[in-house]
Amino acid sequence: MNGLAEAVASFALTRWVARKSRADFERWQAAALRRFLDHDLPRAPFYGKAPSRLEDLPVTDKALLMRRFADFNVHGLTAAEAWTALEHYGRAGSLTVGASTGTSGNRGLFVISEAEKYRWLGSILAKAAPDLLWRGMRVAVVLPQNTGLYDSARKSRLVKLAFFDLAQGPERWRHALEAFDPTVIIAPPKMLRHFASESFRLRPQRVFSAAETLDPVDRPVIESFFRLPLDQIYMATEGLFAVTCRHGGLHLAEDSVFFEFEPAGEGLVTPRVTAFRRRAQIMARYRMNDLLRLSDRPCACGSPLRCVDEVVGRMDDVFRLASENGPILVTPDVLRNAVLKADRRIDDFRLIQTAPDTIELRLAPSLADEAAMAAQQAVCKMLEARKVVVAVTVVRVPLPLETGRKLRRVECRLEQAR
Ligand SMILES: [Zn+2]
Repeated sequence: MNGLAEAVASFALTRWVARKSRADFERWQAAALRRFLDHDLPRAPFYGKAPSRLEDLPVTDKALLMRRFADFNVHGLTAAEAWTALEHYGRAGSLTVGASTGTSGNRGLFVISEAEKYRWLGSILAKAAPDLLWRGMRVAVVLPQNTGLYDSARKSRLVKLAFFDLAQGPERWRHALEAFDPTVIIAPPKMLRHFASESFRLRPQRVFSAAETLDPVDRPVIESFFRLPLDQIYMATEGLFAVTCRHGGLHLAEDSVFFEFEPAGEGLVTPRVTAFRRRAQIMARYRMNDLLRLSDRPCACGSPLRCVDEVVGRMDDVFRLASENGPILVTPDVLRNAVLKADRRIDDFRLIQTAPDTIELRLAPSLADEAAMAAQQAVCKMLEARKVVVAVTVVRVPLPLETGRKLRRVECRLEQAR
């Protein structure tokens, strides 16, 4: 199959699956997972032979995948070869190599084949904007780096795709973006908020937040500027995990990924993913670092794919604190809500755990003193209620747009959290 045919087939499959009942969908998914376990997974040297059940496979994570990189891809590509390929437009023969952002020590690498690249494109179009496809779609992607994934779209007649490098900063490409006049924009929420505050001349029909956790504090600013509901594409180095439908439901990509969930407290879960439609690099029972709140209601759109109420943040950013009853964990959403609910004037902040018993609350110098004090007291009160002994200090500093790193409003900087 050539590239376009792969994309079209994947588009059609994604739309077809979305119309199934949950019971029919689960039968289809179980058969697809079985095929993956029997035929694709054993081709990676790490596995060697197929297990009878998924539960018999070891749980994997990024550290293991990076340490034994060559054993998890079926082409025998080594990590050294992949890093070299990354410097050469991400090409290693017919394979595409991409990497996550982050410090050099914890960057993740991924490998996909040409066919998988087109399948990814077909599936993301089917989920994100099937209604726009036939009317000439101009998609602007503002992400940290060109992973090579998007090259495939550029060549297609149905979609005009333009890539704007987040790392270069918006002043470098503002005019080019406005001239491109995108109908779909995919960008991190901080950048969408920057478009709003700087009044960029844009009139998209769909706006997607991607690559960073969407903080509820950014949503109203972005939605009122574009006069559109803000949608989400939840994707990571490891793949595409959820996309918002036209009814606003954030649906898990269960049509390409089998999800298992580990409870993480406070009603949250961390996902373990098995990407059963990927063949170049095998990812099975892979533990993600994200914290999700699953929805218990079906979506009005009728899709059998389960919904996520919120992608809350990362496991790394959970605060680890000492209480009278022993060590406890406090999740980013609880901390964030304490700050934001303290005073309506607060629309940006940073909350950083800098030591086992110290939290720094950063607020802009322009924020009123009473609001700052209310936020500090709210965090202290919430933690006192959980018998935590901790000092919360307020630091007044500007909170500028940072394009070089992911925005994390709640961040744990303790060493043992890494
Ligand atoms: Zn839906």
